[in-house]
Formats: sequence, C-alpha cells, structure tokens
Amino acid sequence: MNIPLAITGDRPTGPLHLGHYVGSLLNRVQLQHTHQLTVLIADFQALTDNMGNPQKVRANIVELMKDYLAVGLDPSKVRFVLQSAVPELFSLTCYLQNLVSVGQLERNPTVRSELTARGFERGIPAGFLCYPVSQAADIIGLGGGMVPVGDDQLPMMELCNDLVRKLNTMGANLPLANTLLSSTPRLIGVDGKGKMSKSAGNAIALGCSALELEQAIKMAYTDPQHLKVSDPGRVEGNVVFEYLSAFDPNTAEVEELKAHYQRGGLGDMALKRRLLGVMEATLSPIRERRVQVSDSEALDILAKGTYEARAGAQQVLEHVLSCIGVAQLPPPPLSGVVTVRDEYGGCFPEDNLSPPDVQPLDRGGCGN
Ligand code: ATP
Ligand code: MG
Repeated sequence: MNIPLAITGDRPTGPLHLGHYVGSLLNRVQLQHTHQLTVLIADFQALTDNMGNPQKVRANIVELMKDYLAVGLDPSKVRFVLQSAVPELFSLTCYLQNLVSVGQLERNPTVRSELTARGFERGIPAGFLCYPVSQAADIIGLGGGMVPVGDDQLPMMELCNDLVRKLNTMGANLPLANTLLSSTPRLIGVDGKGKMSKSAGNAIALGCSALELEQAIKMAYTDPQHLKVSDPGRVEGNVVFEYLSAFDPNTAEVEELKAHYQRGGLGDMALKRRLLGVMEATLSPIRERRVQVSDSEALDILAKGTYEARAGAQQVLEHVLSCIGVAQLPPPPLSGVVTVRDEYGGCFPEDNLSPPDVQPLDRGGCGN
C-alpha cells in the first residue's frame, strides 16, 4: 500500500513555541498516523539571516528535536532530517533559482515583512531573498505531499507549486504540494504586535518553566483602554483572548467571557489566571517529556532519518536534472583503484597511499 507523503519543517533559530504548536505541530501529530511524515530542521535556511551567529543555529538543532519528541512525534513513524546534511537539496535549489525572477522573490509578502523586521533593507543577504526557492527544493526533493504550515508560509507554497508546474512542463511529472492550515494559522505574540516568532522575541516556548509561563502571561498585551474592571474592553487583538480561543477547551465559556469583557465588569487579572491554568495544563506534560530526552538520543534519531532521506533526494535530483536537460557524465569506472593527485601534481593509487607526516587541518578558528 502506498502511504501518502507529508513534509514540513522549522528553522533552528530558537525553541519551538505556542505558535508552532497550534499552527503546525498538532497537525503533524495527527498526520504521523496517516502519512509518511518528514520533518526538516532547516539549519541552512536559518543561516540566511544568522550567518553571524552559527552557534545559535547549531545549538537549537537538538532543542528542536527534543521539542518534537516531547509534543508526541514518534520517531518510529516520522523521518527527521537535517537540511545542511542533504547537499542534493542545494543542487536542486541552484537550478530552481533560474526559474524565478528577482522581482518575484522581492514581492513575496512574508519575505518583505521579515526584511523589515530584521533591518535588512539596505543589505539583503542573497541567500535570504532566495530562501523560498530553497524551501521549494526541500519540499520537491523530499517527495512533497501534504504540508502543514502557518499562514506566513502561503506565499512560499505558491512559489513551490509554481516551480513544480514549470518542472512538469519539462516532463518531471511531480505532485503539487497540498498546504494544510490549522484553525489557528497565525498565533499572535505576547506583545500583541504581530505573529509569535522566535526571531521577534515575543514567544512562549513549549519547554518554558512554570515561572517563565506565569511571567509571560503577566506581561501579555490586553486592551490598554481597559483601565478599571468596570470598563468595557476590546477582545480583538487582545492576546489573552487570542490564546484562550486557541487553547481553552471550553469554547462556550470563552465566548461568555468575551461578551462579559466587552460589557465591562471583568478584570484582566481574572482572565490571566484562567489562561495560566489552561496553558499550564497544556505545557506541563510537554515539559515533563522533554527533560527525559537526552541529546544523544535526539541526535541519533536525526542522523538516521537524514541518511535515509539523502538516497531519495538523490533520485529526485537526478530525475529533475534529466528533465531539465543537464549534461550527465557516465558513472565512475568500477576498477577498485582510485587515483589521487598528490600535492606535487603526480598520481598514485590510493591503496598505496602512505602520506608523510599528515598534520591536522588548521581550521583558522572556524572549527568551534
Ligand atoms: P523565525 O522567527 O526564525 O522565522 P518562526 O517562529 O517564524 O521562526 P519558523 O521556524 O519560521 O518559526 O516556522 C516553522 C513553522 O511554524 C512554519 O510552518 C510556520 O508557518 C509555523 N509558525 C511559526 N510561527 C507561527 C505562529 N505564530 N502561528 C502559527 N504558525 C506559526
Ligand atoms: Mg519564520
């Protein structure tokens, strides 16, 4: 039986947060039972705006793996992949870049708002502008299928399918990706200013402590005009109500609370106490499972999935290159003796290689 495919991913720029949980993770937990799900840790993509801070990106790879396992993604069902370790995806990206114009990339509304948020207006890293193409290459190279994402990814999905259609006119016969949005496709940040995001510093992490949760909820933006309990308050854009709508299982009571708040007579503190209870009930099991996962367990699972994924990505790449019409050399001869050029320009068989006094590579301070 052919199991349908699904793929999604996250940037290792910080721990996963409540926005990921309702925007994509809950859908992933469901999909793992019906689909062959691939979850990509997009560390190359994270470097497109974090090239000055590679240690942050590297350190968050294992944190993401722990978050995945803690929310209930099952490693016997899900394939976890580290993007930078699948170079076939970058080959594919380079070819796909020729099917997109710079203008098209510049018009991408998500990229535009991210450029503003990161202050990149005057020095846009070329890789950052092109990351939607790299994301399309990830989806195509790893098989495509259902893609559970938040609504900031809609322009990326449009570009991905645009590229799939272009490759199909060359005979690639690739499936279009299917975007899967949740009922909360964009969770607002605690500051009430926009999407909860790792890079904006307005997130509540899934692994946060009870104290951190309490402090974040205390600071959450409500209605600045709602000064006295008796004042009528605004529900729209009010972070506490946004979170109650997304997480409180008692939807009828939340609707009553909204009406009460709008009439006046309901204080922010009472609402925040309720929210704290709801969020603690959601996060405490995640927090408990998270501390049980060791670094080595998490990284072994990631390595296994990554090596499996490479073989498939290589096949897709070869197929796409042959459809584009890229020159392909015959495979290397199977003589068993590989010749290696030595530093003086001569050749000698690898079998007889006895390098004199090999010194470790000087990594010039980059090997930390
Ligand atoms: P960064 O700030 O580094 O871009 P991020 O918080 O936006 O990080 P990503 O790794 O870019 O997180 O996004 C991973 C997935 O989670 C994407 O599918 C994205 O749409 C979804 N997602 C991220 N933030 C939210 C949110 N606030 N609400 C709903 N979905 C979200
Ligand atoms: Mg993002």
